[in-house]
Amino acid sequence: MMIIMKANSTPQQVEHVIEHVKAAGLSVHLSQGIEQTIIGAIGETHNIPADRFEGLDGVEIVQRITQPFKLASRQFHPENSIFPLDGFNIGGEEIAVIAGPCSVESRSQIVETAVAVKEAGASALRGGVFKPRTSPYAFQGLGEEGLEYLAEARAQTGLPIVAEIMSQTQLDLMVKYVDVLQVGARNMQNFNLLRAIGETQTPVLLKRGLSATIEELLMSAEYILAGGNRQVMLCERGIRTFETSTRNTTDINAIPVLKNLTHLPVILDPSHSTGHVDYVAAVARAAIAAGADGLIVEVHPDPAHAVSDGKQSLRPERFAEMVKQVGQIAQVMGRRLVSVRGEYQPLKQGWA
Ligand code: PEP
Ligand code: MN
Repeated sequence: MMIIMKANSTPQQVEHVIEHVKAAGLSVHLSQGIEQTIIGAIGETHNIPADRFEGLDGVEIVQRITQPFKLASRQFHPENSIFPLDGFNIGGEEIAVIAGPCSVESRSQIVETAVAVKEAGASALRGGVFKPRTSPYAFQGLGEEGLEYLAEARAQTGLPIVAEIMSQTQLDLMVKYVDVLQVGARNMQNFNLLRAIGETQTPVLLKRGLSATIEELLMSAEYILAGGNRQVMLCERGIRTFETSTRNTTDINAIPVLKNLTHLPVILDPSHSTGHVDYVAAVARAAIAAGADGLIVEVHPDPAHAVSDGKQSLRPERFAEMVKQVGQIAQVMGRRLVSVRGEYQPLKQGWA
């Protein structure tokens, strides 16, 4: 239920309404936009008549949120959610490009990749240290050692880091190192993990599950938001279909659908959604044209020898070309890529 306050309502009136909402056994989520204050009354609201709040001083109107996801819905929060990430904003006019290898493999691999993607125009660095692999015998990630390498790469380049968390047991460690917690497709419905992340204030990149509907993705986001963490980005990373020419099928539709249903920023992962270097740039361009707020792209200095996802990883030069094209599409859309911040010294020239 949304209690929309009058434009001239006072802080005391807002406080008074909040007390009534709590007294009704509901939890309160306050949304103070530029034009409107909305008090979200979240919980079992179906038995509570709207007029219980309608008569209170300062209340303009009470509306029920009809969608099953409440805090994630655009009904509840009409303006786009914009939140800062180490020097730039996610969800506003600027388009973020997160890039880096599937897995952190060594200090030199991640630092060199970080320098190269920054030079090409990336705004954040990705790299997995806990890897969800189909086979238990495949490389599982470097764990804390990998986080230390990521921290070094951040120190060298200033790029904020994005890494996947697979379990609650990794939470304390991860929040010490990363700027964004990535929740992978396979964990989209790990509700205990989502709840635990909801209690942190670390921004989250929540990936859509392999066979999850858009509504299920939004319900998963709701778990994190309900815990009090409002900094959630949604990521379309391709879904399972009958098509076998590509690793997954990019659901481009998901971008405008999500932008319509939710105020949360929407990111596209053209690497996992296509599974092949030859298709990544085309789908990245399409994503920005469709209204995405950013991209997350796998880049590796030597894809042929990557320990995971080499087939879909761009070499830095090809990534740089992609960024230029995406920047042009962004302009057409009245947006711009996050500009490269600061100066840095490339550590090494030339790639394997
Ligand atoms: C990844 O980003 O490397 C990854 C494992 O992604 P997803 O969870 O989308 O499969
Ligand atoms: Mn990967």
